[in-house]
Parts: sequence; structure tokens; C-alpha cells
Amino acid sequence: MILYKCYNEIKYVEDILEKKEIREYKRDELVLIAIYYRDHINMTPKKREEALYSFCEQYYAGYNIVKHWENIDAALNKARNKQYKLFCADCLPVYSDEVDQINSYDLDYNHKKLMFTLLVYKRLEKIYNASKCLGYNKINYNSSIGLDRKILKVSKISGGNKYTVGDILSDITKLGYIADLPNYKIKLNYLNDCSQQHEKIFDITDFDNIGYYYDYYCGANNINVCWQCGKFYKKTKNNNIRCKDCAPDLKVPEVIIACEDCDQEFIASSLASAKTRCEGCYQIYRRKYKTSKQREYDSR
Ligand SMILES: [Zn+2]
Ligand SMILES: [Zn+2]
Repeated sequence: MILYKCYNEIKYVEDILEKKEIREYKRDELVLIAIYYRDHINMTPKKREEALYSFCEQYYAGYNIVKHWENIDAALNKARNKQYKLFCADCLPVYSDEVDQINSYDLDYNHKKLMFTLLVYKRLEKIYNASKCLGYNKINYNSSIGLDRKILKVSKISGGNKYTVGDILSDITKLGYIADLPNYKIKLNYLNDCSQQHEKIFDITDFDNIGYYYDYYCGANNINVCWQCGKFYKKTKNNNIRCKDCAPDLKVPEVIIACEDCDQEFIASSLASAKTRCEGCYQIYRRKYKTSKQREYDSR
């Protein structure tokens, strides 16, 4: 939840509502929830007040109305200002010429992966800055982690402690691929060399795992697309079909099987690979099988 929290506030609030937990120090989250109630559930101010108080009563850690009503009221007030909106960059296109350009350089893999991450990050910032004039106001931007740590985290560079973003940036800057301006105002010079044949390779939807998209494109590091949610994740021995969030905690890996009757794909434990039918078709098959056995028996 490093960049994703900042760039998909809608999803972020939905996660809070689903997890049913607000920690005491996270006051900003109350504001986000109030705005969500307003814009995404269309609640009136009165309804928002009821809903937020009731949510806090149940799920605000260490809730105490005397101590907390001021925070809650402040959040409700803020949500009366239509200028505040939840920011959501839900998908971000990346084009083949850009990635191919990065890959054409004689650099080590992690340098390229970081260049890719910066490309995506810059694009996110651009969408965010453009939306600011529409009245968006990203509330949740401050965080104790510095920007270079964040970028390194979402770049998913393995052995990340061997690198600092600063080192990599200075290498790439020396080569002239980017211009490193103060305050992370980075100019991606190399984009000028792209062939401009804008063929989209993917839409990035998971801003906390940006580097995985690069791995996937390059066929590196065992990155897979989750069968259930479509997210990119690192494949492990037991997680070879679904990401950690979607797969139940399994000791045995899963396999995908196409049902022999209806052709729909379903997931089964790899130990049950003798399974050839989905649950629905299996029930029908069993019933028919029983009836035919019964008939056989009756006709004897
Ligand atoms: Zn998943
Ligand atoms: Zn079936």
C-alpha cells in the first residue's frame, strides 16, 4: 500500500470498509470515507453523519466519543466541500516502444527495471497533476517513507538493499537517458528516442507492484497473471495459478482443468488431477450414473 493508497483512493476506502478497521492515528481516513459516502454511495449529509459515527463506533480502534467526535466532525465538514474528491488512476497504459527503448540500452536488468518504474510513476504524477485542475485534492499523500524508498519498493527490484535509487539514477543520468532535476522532477530524455509506434502492451492497475509488469514483459522472475483477479504476482511452488490474496492457504498447488462436459475452466488441487468435471457437471454426472446403475439393478 505504498503508491496505490495515493493513486486509487476509491479502492483504498473500499478496502477499509471491507476490512472494518481504522487505526486511531489515521484521521485522514475518516475524510476519505466521508467523501466516499458522498460521491460513491450518494449519501446526504445527514446519512453520512449517521454512517460515519456508526462505522467508528464499531471499528475505530480505541473508540471514545468524547475523544474522537472532533475528528469525525472535522471529516464530515471536509466532505461538505465539493472540491475534495477521491483520486483514482485506475489504469495506466504502457506502450511497447517505450519498453523496447529501455531494453535497447546496455544496462543491467535492475537499472532498466527502475527506468520502467520511473516511466510509470511519471505518468501517474502527470494524470494526478492534470486532475488537480478538476478539483481533486489528494489528501493522503504524506507518508513517512521517502519517495526514493517508495519507488524502490514498487519497482520490485530483487536484492533491493544492494541498490539505492540515487545510485541508479545517477548512473542513468550520466548516460544522458534521463535528466535528474531537483525534487524528483525527472525528465525522461530517452522517450524522445522511442519509435512512437504506440502499441499498448498493458494497462497498469497495480501501482504497488510496478516492477512485476516489466518482469512479465521480459519473461523474468517467474511473474504470473492471477487466474482470479488478473493481478501480476510472483509465482511460487504453491501459488502457481492465483495470487496470495486470491488463493486460500494451500499446502498443495492448484491446477486449472477444463471441464470435459461444459468446457468451463475450474481450479482443483493438483492431487485431485483425476477430476475431469466442474462441480456442477460432476453432480449431474453422478445423478445420471446413479440412476443408470439403479435401472441396471432393477432390470436384473
Ligand atoms: Zn488474485
Ligand atoms: Zn462443467
